Amino acid sequence: MRTDQTPALSHRLRGIPPTVFTEMSALAVRTGAINLGQGFPDVDGPASVVERAVQALRSGENQYAPGIGRPELRAAIAAHQQRHYGIELDPDTEVVVTTGCTEAIAAAVLGLVDPGDEIIVLEPYYDSYVAMIQMAGGVRRPVTLRRPDYRLDADELRAAVTDRTRFVLVNSPHNPTGTVLDQSELQAIADLAIEHDLVVITDEVYEHLTFDGLRHVPLATLPGMRERTLTLSSVGKSFSFTGWKVGWATGPAHLVGAVLSAKQWMSFTSAGPLQSAVAHALDAEDAWPGALATDLQGRRDLLCSGLADAGLSVRVPQGTYFALTDITELGWPDARTFCLALPERAGVVAIPAQAFYDDQDEGRQLVRWAFCKEPSVIEDGLRRLREADLRG
Ligand code: GLN
Repeated sequence: MRTDQTPALSHRLRGIPPTVFTEMSALAVRTGAINLGQGFPDVDGPASVVERAVQALRSGENQYAPGIGRPELRAAIAAHQQRHYGIELDPDTEVVVTTGCTEAIAAAVLGLVDPGDEIIVLEPYYDSYVAMIQMAGGVRRPVTLRRPDYRLDADELRAAVTDRTRFVLVNSPHNPTGTVLDQSELQAIADLAIEHDLVVITDEVYEHLTFDGLRHVPLATLPGMRERTLTLSSVGKSFSFTGWKVGWATGPAHLVGAVLSAKQWMSFTSAGPLQSAVAHALDAEDAWPGALATDLQGRRDLLCSGLADAGLSVRVPQGTYFALTDITELGWPDARTFCLALPERAGVVAIPAQAFYDDQDEGRQLVRWAFCKEPSVIEDGLRRLREADLRG
């Protein structure tokens, strides 16, 4: 019998802290601070897509969608991969719709990872990777993207392989560093995967949000990689509908099938009317994410120059919604203490990137700031930071 002294939590979940995004957004609401923490835009995506969702709700698309996803959305996802990357997919066997990329990650890990399997992850890592790997009984092997440039070191990557390694979980464009893996880094992952017969799971939710003319290259497009790569993405970041929770997994049928096998016991199927609307977004609003990226680049520059003016040493990101700062010089014990004090000091919330590291010597002093907000909100936040005493 469980009592208050033995929390009602399975061993599977013990020791995994609550997600830092929820904690920090709650802190922002509680204190009325400007939320430059959790990555969600404050302006919605294209009106035509919202309109399509309304139509779907009004025209009887309100019962279960097929578990694998509505056919028009699977066709639109396949067409998107073909148009942008030249990847050919069979929409009936090589595409599955999920409840956001978070469910795609969960279903991929639960559907593929056996207890004791080792999974190489890029560090800093997204918090749900760690939670899902633990729930599956897998073992994470972090490979650190090291300061100050946050690039992937091919030797460190190689050194992480053991005879139990079965997967590499990659995220590019990378949250929270803003690194977009370049050709040689991608090739290093591909070479390793081929040499050791590893499956690569790639989280590409920021695929369209790259800056300065850089382009995202999916790992699945490298020679020999299509058959061993499971590619994950979603509508949330590309089209500013983070609350819709519509994502997908694409790749060879045996990997997509494993995702579907797990997904059917999790959510069974994802929100039907939104799937029609997302199909419309991919088919009819193809230019929208690129325009968003151009606009976001300006907001990135605004945030980064403002952070520098406020005395925060910033790494200018190549993609995503986020910029990382190293606060070592401010004299705080760690980023978490700084972030918990920040609402009172400055009326701003940010994310302690420390939460995404095993290697605390690398991550202890790193703070993540979101620039997917209106310029006036970013300016207000920066003014507050400039006027505050940020020293520990
Ligand atoms: N991906 C978003 C971020 O990094 C948040 C998603 C979430 O809260 N799970 O801020």
